Order: sequence, then C-alpha cells, then structure tokens
Amino acid sequence: MVSPMKRKMTRLLALVVVALLPAMLRAQDNADWTRPFEPFRIIGNIYWVGSYDLSTYLITTPQGNILINTGVGDTAQQIAKSVDQLGFKLSDTRILTATHGHYDHVAGMATLKRLTGARLIVSEPDRPLFESGGKADFRFGNTPGAQFDPVKVDGTFKDGESITLGGTTLVAHLHAGHTKGATSFTTSVQEGGKTYRVIIANMGSINPGVKLSGMPGYNTIAQDYARTFLAQKDMKVDVWLASHASQFRLHDKYKPGDRYDPERFVDPQGYLAAVQQLEKTYLDQLAKERTGK
Ligand SMILES: [Zn+2]
Ligand SMILES: [Zn+2]
Repeated sequence: MVSPMKRKMTRLLALVVVALLPAMLRAQDNADWTRPFEPFRIIGNIYWVGSYDLSTYLITTPQGNILINTGVGDTAQQIAKSVDQLGFKLSDTRILTATHGHYDHVAGMATLKRLTGARLIVSEPDRPLFESGGKADFRFGNTPGAQFDPVKVDGTFKDGESITLGGTTLVAHLHAGHTKGATSFTTSVQEGGKTYRVIIANMGSINPGVKLSGMPGYNTIAQDYARTFLAQKDMKVDVWLASHASQFRLHDKYKPGDRYDPERFVDPQGYLAAVQQLEKTYLDQLAKERTGK
C-alpha cells in the first residue's frame, strides 16, 4: 500500500524525469555530435567532412560538389574547415541535401546555404521540416531543443529519382518511418578496376516517444517502416555508410591517420545485420504496443 501523498510525489518525479529525458539524451549525445573529427577520403570521390558522430559527406565532381547533411552547433564552420583541409573549396558546393530533416543532420543547413549559395534539394515529404525549422515534425515539432534555422528548399525528389552532377549520380530511395521523407542515397564508384555499390543509408531507428501503432500526425508510420525494412534488406550493397558514424561503426573501421583503402567500408553483412536488428526492434515494439504490455 502506498500513501496517496507518496503516490503523488512518485508521479510528480516521473513527470519531471520524462520532461528532462530528451534534454539529458541530447546533452549526452552532444559531445560526440559536435566533437571535431579529421576529414578523410572514404572511397573515390566521397569524403567524410562530418563531426565525430554526425556524418557529412562531400562528393566531389568536375562540375562542383555535393554536400549531404550538416550537424548541429558550429558544425557548418567545422565542415567548411574540413572541406578546405582536404584541398577542396566550400564555394564549389552546388547541391546540398540530407538523409532526413532532423536537427542533428540539418541544423547547419541554413548557414551552409548562405556560405555556398548552393541549391538545397530534399525529399518531397521532408520539405516541411526544413522550411519550418523542425516545427512540422510529428515527433519533435514541439520540442524547442530540436528546432533549427528554417531554410528554403529549392527542389525536391521522389522515391527513385536521382541527383546528377558532373558525372556522379545519386539515386534517392525513400526509406520513410524515421521521418516521412527519410532518404538513403546510392551511387557506384569505380576504383582500382572495381565497381563498388555505395549506400548512404538512413537506418530505420525509432526515436523515444514514437508510437508505431498510432502516431499522431503520422498515420502510416508502421507501414512505412515495414516497407523500408523490406526495401533495405533487398538492396545490394558493398560500401555501407549512414547518417551517424555509430550506425555503421566508423570508429571500429577507421582511425585518424589510417591510409586510404577503398575496401575499408565494404561491409554487406554488417549492413544487413543492422537492418535486421532494427526491423526486430520495430516488430518487438509494435507487438508490445498492440498487446498493451
Ligand atoms: Zn532523426
Ligand atoms: Zn540522427
């Protein structure tokens, strides 16, 4: 038997903890999100110019460059410095895009657009996230810490459409669920007489507080995740990259100063295992929600 007073206190404490949780998670993550990391060549014309955990990919072409994702905080400056350090020019950036419109991947987009004058092209369903600075998000729309500088979108792509610049083609795959317009990009790279199929995957992780069996503002979330896992399991991948370094275990595979090796991030098994693990997490959560346990 718990006294009503004690019950009230416990409930109050629980509320406080729930309210603080997102901030706590962010603070904990932020160290790796903003910690600088030496830029390096991943494979062919694809380079890492992101922070320790948040990926930013520089793709160079003879007709200018593409940048995929930013980070948070002062990462626009970090990205600029990294591009420069690799011997490229930030002002050569022609296209900006992103794997999805959450602040940890796009908070620096408005600044980067200002610095480069590049066109921002994103997936059609995520467009409102960019233009509302995150307020249109079904999960974090009311979380002030998850909002960012709104940025005008100059063009959108649909599932299967591609971005082409200077002989490089990125095919956009709508892998919705995490956001309505979450996108993976694929391209192929020729290196040393071999062709590598590269994926910059948006992995189907589920944020805390998301209810798969009935998410306000996102009716089709469960079907979208299911379709994403099916599509991702079916993809033929050699080189696996993702939105977060931790998702594809960058730091187990590469240490600053390691020599360039186009085979370094070849990991089709790791990719498939990660997709299957996320699918299992999704199925477990969905089952739990449906049985009410
Ligand atoms: Zn996200
Ligand atoms: Zn993220």
